[in-house]
Amino acid sequence: MSLFARLFCLLACCALPTLALAQATVPASECPVLDANDPQARNSLLYYVCYYQSPPGDPAYSAIQPAELPSNMEWTPSRGRELVFSQTHSVYWVRLNVQNNGRERQLWYLNLSYPLLDEVTFWRGDGPRDVLVTGDQHRFHARAVDYRFFLLPIYLNSGESRSITLRIRSSGALNLPLQLETPAELIAQSNHLAISHGLFYGAILVLAIFNLLLFASSGTFYYLHNAFYMGTMGLFLFAMGGFANQYFWPEHPAFANTFIPLSLILCGLSMTLFGRSFFEVERHTLADKTLKAITWLCVGVIGLTLVLPYNLAILLNTLLGLIIIFILSIIAVSRWREGYQPAKWYVLAWVIMATGALVYAAAAFGYLADFLARESLMLTAIGGQVILLNYAMVQRWRLMNNKLLKVEQEARTDLEYKVHERTAQLRSTMRELESANRKLATLSLNDPLTGLYNRRHMDNILPELCAEARRTGQPLSLGLVDVDHFKTVNDTWGHGFGDTCLQMIANLLSRHAKRPRDVAIRFGGEEFALLLPGTDMEGAQKVCEALLEDLRAAVVNAPDGARAKLTMSAGIALMQPDEDQHAFFERADSALYKAKARGRNQTAIAES
Ligand code: GH3
Ligand code: MG
Ligand code: MG
Repeated sequence: MSLFARLFCLLACCALPTLALAQATVPASECPVLDANDPQARNSLLYYVCYYQSPPGDPAYSAIQPAELPSNMEWTPSRGRELVFSQTHSVYWVRLNVQNNGRERQLWYLNLSYPLLDEVTFWRGDGPRDVLVTGDQHRFHARAVDYRFFLLPIYLNSGESRSITLRIRSSGALNLPLQLETPAELIAQSNHLAISHGLFYGAILVLAIFNLLLFASSGTFYYLHNAFYMGTMGLFLFAMGGFANQYFWPEHPAFANTFIPLSLILCGLSMTLFGRSFFEVERHTLADKTLKAITWLCVGVIGLTLVLPYNLAILLNTLLGLIIIFILSIIAVSRWREGYQPAKWYVLAWVIMATGALVYAAAAFGYLADFLARESLMLTAIGGQVILLNYAMVQRWRLMNNKLLKVEQEARTDLEYKVHERTAQLRSTMRELESANRKLATLSLNDPLTGLYNRRHMDNILPELCAEARRTGQPLSLGLVDVDHFKTVNDTWGHGFGDTCLQMIANLLSRHAKRPRDVAIRFGGEEFALLLPGTDMEGAQKVCEALLEDLRAAVVNAPDGARAKLTMSAGIALMQPDEDQHAFFERADSALYKAKARGRNQTAIAES
């Protein structure tokens, strides 16, 4: 039975009048007789049962066997109504007259399929062996048959009739679902139930273990709490169904009774823990504080449950359970409204469980027949709830996964952007570096004053040009040019004017180095060179003569208004096939020296 069902039982016990108040009564002799061979009659057993409710003080209350009942006691025929009684301190007597109208001696079982009754005494006759005392306050082995429900074997000879009497004493609401069954019917029913219960508890166990494994591998607490909830809910139903008494503690009826409210409060605790972690309740909010308080309250109540009497413990724990469900529902709905999707499935799970419990509770008050059907319905509802809760967890997992993927995606995009940015920066830096390098290279190979190539460039290309001339057999000429008496120009008009003259002479050189491969070089202070690949001596001589002539003819105005006369001398050499660049240069230099020696302002040809 669920928390809801317990609560409804309790409420109903307060609100509904007992069945006894509304019924007409008959003397014992007028209770009908049931033909045990007639299956239809057995199916409508409740039309043959009479009962008597004896409150404390009533003579029947203190009677401990049927013989002690007052002879004029008036019984109430149940007339088909289920035997459900409110929570009273009364003792209940039930009478069933049965007869074997068959031809042979036969066995039937009177099955009282409500496992939580404190004490049930069966009498199938007057003999000392015709009495059976059982109930969940007695050791399980006192039962006639090893079964979770109470069974009374009844043997009837052909034509024999008997009065079966039951005395039931129990705290809490009383539910007396009675059936009279042949052994074959009992076995069949037990088999069907065994399958459905096996499936239910097996599924709960597997899911609980699965959640424990998920917790062990992920460290996520709501898996642990879900396993805890399924475990305690399974145990509570196991205890309510009478299985715990049968299999866990058959020798300890006192603990068996304590375990029912205990498993109930453990359910409450596990629901609270699960809810707290599942809803991702923000810390230090009202919801968080409430759930924390409830958690500690549950821990306290667990202690109380161990010392309080069953009646009080079950009442207290049911109320607390209801409060927990109420609070969790409010949190679930508000989280749902905040847009937290998994909460939707959680709410649906509770609704299914509550609907099942309501039907179960309604059935428990006799509005729906068949106790076993109600039990199956309850198991189905709880099973549905557990599946939905697990589905809700899957949804929650999906949500978290999506969040993680999004974060990862954003991080990746950000990273890609940064890589792009850095690459672009790097490229631009490299471009700047290249251009700086180019500038540097130009600067290092050019003369800053005239813009002509410098000595370094000549040292670079002269060996290359010599090698090429040797390889191709093409002529290579070199003219070394030196300004005459330039020291005097500087001394007369100053270095500034000297520099201007040097720039003008550089311009003349550039103009005369006409062919694409001709190179004009300033390789010393007022010393210049013309490197002329593919040009023979005659050509080189023409170029140098023209250059000298241009300078002679040039009009150079000095700073003092005088007209400066500038001339220069040149030594010209044609590279010989067997000489290297040094010898080649030396010969040109010697020719220049010769031109100077001959009086300057002329060209001289190097000897080959
Ligand atoms: P020669 O006819 O024998 O060559 O006489 P010269 O005076 O030209 O020769 P010398 O080697 O004695 O003097 C070269 C002069 O060139 C010395 C220096 O004043 C001048 N000179 C060298 N480099 C520069 C320069 O960059 N700028 C200026 N204004 N003058 C320079
Ligand atoms: Mg010189
Ligand atoms: Mg000179």
